[in-house]
Amino acid sequence: MSSFTTALDAVLGHLEVTRLHGRTLKASRSALAALRASTETVPTLAAPPAPPPVAASAPSAVAPVALVPPAPVQVAPAPKPSEPKPASAPAVPLSKAERLAAMRSRTASCVLCPHLAESRKSVVFGVGDPDARLMFVGEAPGADEDVQGEPFVGRAGQLLTKIIQTMGFARDEVYIANILKCRPDTPGQSYGNRAPTNEEMQTCLPYLEEQIDIIRPEVLVALGGTAVRGLLGGEPKITSVRGRWHDFRGIPLMPTFHPSFLLRPENESKKRLTWEDMLSVKERLGLEITERERRYFLPKAAPAGE
Ligand code: SF4
Repeated sequence: MSSFTTALDAVLGHLEVTRLHGRTLKASRSALAALRASTETVPTLAAPPAPPPVAASAPSAVAPVALVPPAPVQVAPAPKPSEPKPASAPAVPLSKAERLAAMRSRTASCVLCPHLAESRKSVVFGVGDPDARLMFVGEAPGADEDVQGEPFVGRAGQLLTKIIQTMGFARDEVYIANILKCRPDTPGQSYGNRAPTNEEMQTCLPYLEEQIDIIRPEVLVALGGTAVRGLLGGEPKITSVRGRWHDFRGIPLMPTFHPSFLLRPENESKKRLTWEDMLSVKERLGLEITERERRYFLPKAAPAGE
């Protein structure tokens, strides 16, 4: 091996080591041309034997090395902003119970009637089955309801529960709410209730409408004249509208007496009329009416001899 070949081998070996370390080699075109020309003159010298192929992991080998830059590192291209993103999962519609729960937390801090927000102990949202077929609407919370945060829990509430059970439902199978969600204040009075004003009812009515739109019961029952006025407007008397079907936002509405009205001894006879109204409601819901219930409304047989 000539000294030139030895030197050339050393250069090539150095280049190989450089490449294996991932470094690039900067050489001018003229330098490379001179190197190429010198190798072309080597045939006059003793040509070195062809070296065996050497694995890339053997940096000490003196295999011929092409003067090529190291392979560029492959980097995944960043997604273009215009490329469509993977579709997100479709939103699952909220259940009635979830929608009512969200609404309840919204109304809990309502101060649209500042005087009521100041005097109330709780916002009486409503109670019952969000999927109820039957919904009762009263006028406003009283003292007991204000304390317990649930509509119809006092004596009138107990009578309403009895009416519901007599119809064949459990109390928690229907839905119960009021036109007004806060107890009407009674300034200077430590007891007693008052009826809500028209302005208070109109302020709170959108909440009830939203509740009814979520529940969509098959039948609504308005309990008492104030509830009827709140739902239907005007100044109708309960005695003139009860027992007949009305419509509220596309839902059949049956007005009847308020349970607290029925609790007064002088109104005992009105209980029978209330029961008539509830049988109409049962009929509207397609529920079975027993023979005993039907007989209750048949005219009593005239005594013999008359
Ligand atoms: S009565 Fe209704 S509108 Fe008025 S403060 Fe209470 S929740 Fe709000």
